[in-house]
Amino acid sequence: MKKIRLSKSSISQKEKEAVLEVLDKEFLGMGEEVQKFEKKIQKYLDTDRDVVCVNTGTSALHIALEGLGLGEGDEVLVPTITYVASFQAVSATGATPVPCEIDPNTLFIDVEDAKNRITPNTKAIMAVHYASSSKGIEEICRLAEKFNLRVIEDAAQAFGCFRNGKMVGAIGDIVCFSFDGIKNITSGEGGAVVSSDKKLIQKIRDIRLLGVEKDSEKRYQGQRSWDFDVKHQGYRYHMSNIMAAIGIAQLDRLEQFKEKRQEIAKRYIEQLSDIDEVEFLDFDYENIIPHIFVIKTQQRDQLREYLLKHNIEVGIHYKPNHLLTKYNLGYSLPIAEKVYEKILTLPCHFDLSKDEQQFIINTIKNFYRGSE
Ligand SMILES: *Cc1c(COP(=O)(O)O)cnc(C)c1O
Repeated sequence: MKKIRLSKSSISQKEKEAVLEVLDKEFLGMGEEVQKFEKKIQKYLDTDRDVVCVNTGTSALHIALEGLGLGEGDEVLVPTITYVASFQAVSATGATPVPCEIDPNTLFIDVEDAKNRITPNTKAIMAVHYASSSKGIEEICRLAEKFNLRVIEDAAQAFGCFRNGKMVGAIGDIVCFSFDGIKNITSGEGGAVVSSDKKLIQKIRDIRLLGVEKDSEKRYQGQRSWDFDVKHQGYRYHMSNIMAAIGIAQLDRLEQFKEKRQEIAKRYIEQLSDIDEVEFLDFDYENIIPHIFVIKTQQRDQLREYLLKHNIEVGIHYKPNHLLTKYNLGYSLPIAEKVYEKILTLPCHFDLSKDEQQFIINTIKNFYRGSE
């Protein structure tokens, strides 16, 4: 059997044709295609909030924080178990990411621990929607309100997910998505910021194009500003027409992606639930599009070796960031460290076949039966 991949992009003829169309127009940078993608996302999220597309999810987080004016001396609370991008986005502004404990059942930031780490320098909480779930965000928003903090949702893994009947992105303070190759939809690389704060969004729009004021509107029309002003540090973080074309085609396929990913998660749970050693995270799978499927097990490393030996690629999402030299503030986070020893990510992507998943499930069953 050939190697079963942990995750991958799923590219159809549609994406290929869309890219060729942009290439034929010979306008590759940020233009009308990007605006079209932004409007399409807005419509999909069923919101009147503006969407600002950028070149990566990390840039989305970074300019959201920059837009808030965060910098040296400021602190942002971040769950320690997340992709290092969350931490890098904070430290890129000069602010300090403060690693926090997680809830072992959801790996969402632990509200009590977060509360205990608030200081006069704390400006924001970055809530990460681990494995696409934002269960627990209401408590975080209440805490933020009480202490006058901003909430940035790292929803890199949660595009297309619901909570309380609304789409992630249509509610909340500031929400950042990623469209990197393996996320729920991709634009090659890419990301977006959505916010209820109109002033912030205007600022972010400028920051993504080197801080050139009101350049976005011109670019959408295939023009650019010549006589302009710059008030803030900016970056070359805009999305290109090529990327947007891929994103638009992917968004048309999202309902298919959703169905398949939910089916995969459901099948893992159904067929692995009689193994005592395997635990699942406490998610509401009807409402999310699982970007990754994570189990917890006592014999993680042995199971991992066994699966790799059988050509099944698995992952560990993620090493706690407070264990990294750059982000170690000199304290331990015992719950996260313990969970880290147990988590294992199983293959979950649109092109995973039923047979491949059955092989994965059977291999896990064999491992716990102690055969071979
Ligand atoms: C993917 C991801 C990011 C970064 O997005 P990129 O588009 O890869 O820059 C940030 N946070 C989390 C939780 C992610 O999964």
